[in-house]
Amino acid sequence: MKFQYFLLLCFTITFQANAQSNSTSATATSPTPADLQVEYVRTEPNAELWLQPGDRLNVRVKAKPGLKVNLWNQHPLHEIPAAQNKGEAGLYVGGYIIQPSDKLSDQHLPIIVDDTTDTQPHTVFFTKTKITILNPAQPLYGLTTTSDAYMNYGLGEDRLGGAKMGFLDSLVRVQINGRVGRDYRIKLSNTLNAYIPVRQVQLEGPSSFTGESLTSSWSVTGEDEKGKYDFVRVAVGQRLPYTSYMDVDPSRIVVDIYGAVSNSNWITLHRTLREVKNVQYQQLTSDVFRVIIDLKHPQAWGYGIGYQGNSLVIKVKRQPEKLKLKHLTIAVDAGHGGTNTGTKGKTGIPEKEITLKIAQHLKKELEKKGANVIMTREADVTVDNSERVRILKQAQPDLLVSVHVNSAGRPEVQGASTYYRHLAFRPLSQALYEEVLKLDLKEFGNIGGFNFALNAPTEFPNALVETAFASNPEDEQKLINPEFQEDMAEQIRKGIERFLKETKKRK
Ligand SMILES: [Zn+2]
Repeated sequence: MKFQYFLLLCFTITFQANAQSNSTSATATSPTPADLQVEYVRTEPNAELWLQPGDRLNVRVKAKPGLKVNLWNQHPLHEIPAAQNKGEAGLYVGGYIIQPSDKLSDQHLPIIVDDTTDTQPHTVFFTKTKITILNPAQPLYGLTTTSDAYMNYGLGEDRLGGAKMGFLDSLVRVQINGRVGRDYRIKLSNTLNAYIPVRQVQLEGPSSFTGESLTSSWSVTGEDEKGKYDFVRVAVGQRLPYTSYMDVDPSRIVVDIYGAVSNSNWITLHRTLREVKNVQYQQLTSDVFRVIIDLKHPQAWGYGIGYQGNSLVIKVKRQPEKLKLKHLTIAVDAGHGGTNTGTKGKTGIPEKEITLKIAQHLKKELEKKGANVIMTREADVTVDNSERVRILKQAQPDLLVSVHVNSAGRPEVQGASTYYRHLAFRPLSQALYEEVLKLDLKEFGNIGGFNFALNAPTEFPNALVETAFASNPEDEQKLINPEFQEDMAEQIRKGIERFLKETKKRK
């Protein structure tokens, strides 16, 4: 209501539709907004926002010091003392908790600026970006449009993208309770939100149909003797969002289904199972249904997850029976390629050339031992990382090693490092690290939780080897040496074998 009142009021005062064009717009009416020296008015984050009651709206205005600055509803912003803003006066900031009575629909946010020392009326400025306040009484739903939709924990960004919570199958129904620029905020449970790219969700019309559903009975069954998988099928009733992870000691797969309530009155297990030892569930909270899958082997070999109809299917990869290279399919990923040259050091030789040489040697090394090898690229071609992941998930290798060259801002930083995302796959990265370090490289570390696209797949054990630093002159001399490239390939092959041997021991 306040806002409608305000609109009427606006007829009597000066509008300034775009604070940025302040200085250039010649307005015939007095007063002139230029006197207020408004440099910008913006929300934080400075992007299109969808908020719901209870959310905090943060606003920042830069203008002449000593003004009165209010939100559209008269909620005040406060000027930060110059001492707290690098000596600069005139920065107004404020946070406001959206109330159920607030209504804004796809509009630029009005900010009221007034110089109380003059007799002029106040001026209204607008943010460049738009804002919408959602109505919780009409929850908004959408369907994922791709089978590799991803969820982020928050809005953080770095060169690897935001930290990922997990992936979703297509046609999964998600409740949207906010938006920040190119991401929707989705509600997983009463205590957990995630962010998902707007382009990966097709909005449904406003609906009162809830995203809750009852689970029913499960079937847990394995392929025949020669097959590679066991399957856990949970009938959910509709495609609800989920997250999952692998635990170690004990080795298990944990899947949380959001909005699901148990009506699972029995679980049928078949004698064909080879990897699944036990399954059980917990109703963790009234809106989170947890599936727990205990594995037979201490070393998990991964899993895929997705919907068949409205059943969530967890496809559990069995540990290969024969842990020898000649019985396995190994995927080798040469980092970068084509237009994506990767890093380079003083010599100017691009990372993509070094990784391809090492990968080609590695392929030979592995084939000598009888392995079947899949390469994500075998020439200087551009293949983006999401395409590599798609190819790999289809090819279903038993294991993946990605080969890269590292780089740091400080040239003294050097050494080898290996990376994993999923704790269950750490042993592979550790075995690789041990063997690669034998090349007289410095220790940079074994690094976990790594948010790299080729460490993300849960379908097969995978690790990234950052062989050495191109930004370090000593390391770079090694990296460009053909003998070193062959030795590196040999050590990576030994690392894989070491992992297989150690896995056998852990049985
Ligand atoms: Zn790289």
